[in-house]
Amino acid sequence: MVRYSVILLLLITATTLSVPQNIREGFSLANASRLKPLEARLVQSIRPENCRSQHRIFTEKPHMAGSVRNYELAQHVAKQWKEYGLEDVELIEHPVYLPWPIRYEATLVGTNEKLSLKEEPIPQDKDSYNPDVGIPYCAYSADVDVTAPVVYVNSGNPEDYDLLAQRGVDVRGKIALARYSVPYSYRGFKALTAQRRGVAALLLYSDPADDGFKKGDVFPWGPWGPESHLQRGGIVYDFNLPGDPRTPGWASVPGGRFLPAESAVSMPTVAAAPMSYKDARRLLEKMTGPAVPTEWQGGLPFTYRLGPTSDKLHLVIQNDKKVRSIWNVVGRLRGAERPNEWVVLGNHRDAWVFGGVDPSSGSATLMETARAFGELKRSGWKPRRTLIFASWDAEEFTLTGSTEWGELEAERLQAGALAYLNVDSSASGSNFTAAAVPALANFLRDVARDVPDPSGGSIYDSWLRQTNSNEPPVTTRLGSGSDYTVFLNFLGVPIADLTFDGPYGVYHSIYDSFTWVERVGDPGYYYHAAMGRYWAVAALQLSECDYVPLDYAAYAREVQSYLDETGTAARRLGVEVDLGPARDAAKVWEKNGRTALEVARKAVEAGDTARVERVHKGLMKVERALLDPDGLAGRPWFKHLIYAPRPTYKPLVLPALTEAIEARDQPRAKLEVERLTRALKRAAAALEPTN
Ligand SMILES: [Zn+2]
Repeated sequence: MVRYSVILLLLITATTLSVPQNIREGFSLANASRLKPLEARLVQSIRPENCRSQHRIFTEKPHMAGSVRNYELAQHVAKQWKEYGLEDVELIEHPVYLPWPIRYEATLVGTNEKLSLKEEPIPQDKDSYNPDVGIPYCAYSADVDVTAPVVYVNSGNPEDYDLLAQRGVDVRGKIALARYSVPYSYRGFKALTAQRRGVAALLLYSDPADDGFKKGDVFPWGPWGPESHLQRGGIVYDFNLPGDPRTPGWASVPGGRFLPAESAVSMPTVAAAPMSYKDARRLLEKMTGPAVPTEWQGGLPFTYRLGPTSDKLHLVIQNDKKVRSIWNVVGRLRGAERPNEWVVLGNHRDAWVFGGVDPSSGSATLMETARAFGELKRSGWKPRRTLIFASWDAEEFTLTGSTEWGELEAERLQAGALAYLNVDSSASGSNFTAAAVPALANFLRDVARDVPDPSGGSIYDSWLRQTNSNEPPVTTRLGSGSDYTVFLNFLGVPIADLTFDGPYGVYHSIYDSFTWVERVGDPGYYYHAAMGRYWAVAALQLSECDYVPLDYAAYAREVQSYLDETGTAARRLGVEVDLGPARDAAKVWEKNGRTALEVARKAVEAGDTARVERVHKGLMKVERALLDPDGLAGRPWFKHLIYAPRPTYKPLVLPALTEAIEARDQPRAKLEVERLTRALKRAAAALEPTN
């Protein structure tokens, strides 16, 4: 759904665990060397040309959630997975609230000029002529039929509206024109802000300064967006509640229980539509009033003004209010020894249009990864634990498919999931980027040492080179914007989110296509294959490990640094809180986390399987212990007390406590410290029997 890699790069871990070089955390020496030939076979088996042919299948036609084509692709996935040798392959139906557009029109009243509200096909990309490209829209927008002047609100953030108010521009009842901003801020937050400020409707356009010609060559000659590209996308408030708005906290199943969608905390009441700068230019040129501040000036060759426009715009936005069936595809390789312990690999299948990068690069990689595991299975190998492959539907709407499945399988996932490994887009370039809970950061670095990079050397080497660092950075502050959310925030399953990143200006447009990927993003499909190899090796190691290599000493250290920051913020805001008890609990957690791995390393070499098992079971409980059943204030679906998304999707650490402090609510802050302390004590206690 979003380019999470861009927004999460703010802060990164730099923690080193003193593990001797020859020891692989989670493995006895014997088990680690048993694994080497299996890893090598997976790496050899995964081929760029196979990724390319799968990519062509997924990107051939538009395949929005709820469409016939996306159902056909679900059947394609299931058929292939069965042929590969995956077991228990099934299409799982979820009926969900999934509105589609009916009528989108924008007419300048004075001149009767109609804005196009669509993208132009280009001869170099035959797919762009496809007649099935639907009306570009913002999913979950309210309906509107309004005639009003337009004002320019820059990025559409609260401070932008404040500045307009200072300059005497009244936005109430007017149509707000906002540009998509870089770095990324979730468009749903722009909608929420517009709703709060009382605008009549919101237009979201792509300025050439952000992802167009001001950045460099545009498609088909380069990665950036051409003149008429626009960014579709959901504006749903899924930072309050992801998944079907009618089923907060339980799964949408045929014949199940549903609440009315309109009353859900995730439903916007403002209308919004996406727009290209080709159309927006017609509005920007008509703005009156004072010139904008320098930072608000975009890439078009005239002075931007605050508005309003000299002419009024007649805007009609109409959507159907339909419930549609979506289809997750789930298949598995059953674990021979521990069938109830799960390693889950997931990618979403639905795209706004062709989904060249987002998500079909990931879908192609998922197919090739599943095929390679099937090949390994045919040679007689069986995983120790169960590997689950998932092709999610309707991620673009409100992380819908993964959320519904997570809610459906909550009990089994909480009992037995080691980790969820998400790949949304696998490759828009060559920069390896990983986000994960702090406990998985070292594991992800270790895996990178084992997988070749297309540029030569290992992914670890190129990761170091590209980030110019001593230790490859794993983003551990987790916001939202892809399918890992239900696993982390609702279920307490450790997650990782992986991609190869690069310059990419066609996100959610018709130009995010097969041709873009083949010409610009990953010619040769080498990075698609590299991601498949990485994903496969990570999944294999988790499936085969003696104890799950989760480093909670690193996690606890990170939480202590969050407590330091929170303390500073509290002092700045004049909120008195005693964070001592939480700090003490985090220190015990850190000690227990370190001891757990020390004990496990010795026990695994001594062949003390009972002790290894105790550590392993303890490690599996820790992330769950960080959930609180009551969840966050006003959004109880979000249960994790260390991470949650802000409405911008930016990460919010220690969310319940931080929100209380930011609200200057001292009594609540005190209660939140207690709640956090209890969670940290639970996390520490989960590791205690291992001492
Ligand atoms: Zn996506």
